[in-house]
Amino acid sequence: MTGDIGQEIEDLHWNMGLLQNLEVGLVVVDRDSYVCMWNGFMENHSGISASKAVNQSLFSLYSELPVQWLKKKIEAVMLLSNTVYISWEQRPYLFRFKSHRPITGSAPFMYQNVTLSPLSSPTGQIDHIGILIYDVTDNAIAQQKLEAANKQLQSLSRTDGLTGLYNRAYWQECLEKEFDRYGRLQEISSVIMFDIDHFKKVNDTYGHQAGDLVIKTIAQTLQQYVRKTDITGRYGGEEYGAILVGTNGENAIVFAERLRAAVEATDMQYGKHKLSVTISLGVSEISFAQASALDWLEQADQALYKSKQNGRNIVTLYDNQS
Ligand code: GH3
Ligand code: MG
Ligand code: MG
Repeated sequence: MTGDIGQEIEDLHWNMGLLQNLEVGLVVVDRDSYVCMWNGFMENHSGISASKAVNQSLFSLYSELPVQWLKKKIEAVMLLSNTVYISWEQRPYLFRFKSHRPITGSAPFMYQNVTLSPLSSPTGQIDHIGILIYDVTDNAIAQQKLEAANKQLQSLSRTDGLTGLYNRAYWQECLEKEFDRYGRLQEISSVIMFDIDHFKKVNDTYGHQAGDLVIKTIAQTLQQYVRKTDITGRYGGEEYGAILVGTNGENAIVFAERLRAAVEATDMQYGKHKLSVTISLGVSEISFAQASALDWLEQADQALYKSKQNGRNIVTLYDNQS
C-alpha cells in the first residue's frame, strides 16, 4: 500500500517535471479564475514566476487579458464540460508574449492557439480548467506570407505589364460582373472603348518604344481622370476600355469628352521629339436591350467605329435608334 503511494508520488513528480518543461504554456485556474498552476513556459514568457502566480486571480496577474471574453469562455467550458479551441486566426494571442523566434523576427508577438479544457476532480466535478497555450508563430507567419504572395500573384495575373491597367481578360470579367449586377439591381453604368488615332504612324515614324511610351502615357491620363470605382483596362494593343460604374450615357459622354481633350492636350517627350496623339471614343449605356456583356461592349465598339469614320478625335454615344 505504502509502496503504491510512493509510486504514485513518484509518477506525479515526473509528470510535474514534464509539464514544467513542456514547450507549451499550461495554466490551471479554478472556478473563480485563481491560478493553481503556472508552468515553466508561462514563467519564461511572462516573466512571472509560478510562486508569484499561484493563488492569484489570473486577471489581476495579467492585466492585458481580454477579461469579458475569457470569462465567458471559462463559464462555457465549466457549464458544458467541453473543450474549447481558439485558433490564432480568430484571436492572434491570449497572452501577449514577445516572439522569440529568430527566423520569424518579423512577428511582433507570439501567435497562439489556445485550448480550454475542463478538469474533473476525483469526485467527477468540474471545478478547474486547464488552459494550454501553443506557440504557432512560425505557422502563422508562413501562412500570412503565403496569403500575401497569393494576393500579389493574383494582382499580377490581372494586370497589364506595360500600363498597369487591368488586362483584357480580367477587365472583361469585371464587365460581365457589372452586367450581371445590372440584371439584379438595375444600377446604371456605361462603358467606353477608345483607340489611338493613326497609331501606326507613331510606330513607323519613331519606333516601337515611342509607341509604348504613348500607350503608357494615355493609360496614366485615363487613370487620372476616372473615379476610384471606375474600372479601366487595356483591351488590346492601343485600345482601352473603361467601365464607369453608376454613370449614365449622358454623363459618360461628358467624361469621354474631357478625356479626349486631355489626351489631345498632352505632349510626350521622346528623346528630342515631342509626340502628341488623339483618341477616338465610343460610349454605350447599359440597358436591357443588350443580351450580354459582350453585346454592351459591341455597342461601344460600334460607336468607336463611327468616331473613326467621322474624322477621329471625337466621342460618339451608341444610339439604339440607329
Ligand atoms: P486608327 O486611327 O484607325 O486606329 O489607325 P491606327 O494606325 O491606330 O490603326 P490601329 O488601331 O489598327 O493600329 C494598331 C497598331 O498598334 C498596330 C500595332 O503595330 C500597334 N500596336 C499594338 N500593340 C502595340 C504595343 O504594345 N506597342 C506598340 N508600340 N505598338 C502596338
Ligand atoms: Mg486599334
Ligand atoms: Mg488606332
